[in-house]
Amino acid sequence: MADCPDENDMACYIDKLLSDDEVGQIEGHLLGCDRCREIVVVTKKVVAWIEG
Ligand SMILES: [Zn+2]
Repeated sequence: MADCPDENDMACYIDKLLSDDEVGQIEGHLLGCDRCREIVVVTKKVVAWIEG
């Protein structure tokens, strides 16, 4: 899959550190990319678990 966001962008997206434009770009990408959607789901679970 071409032009997947890198890990750093994903981490910032999950931590809500991105601008609205950047969030829109990543969410647009997630709609078409199962692999990145999976990463977000898994990472959010891990973050929720760490943060309790
Ligand atoms: Zn992707």
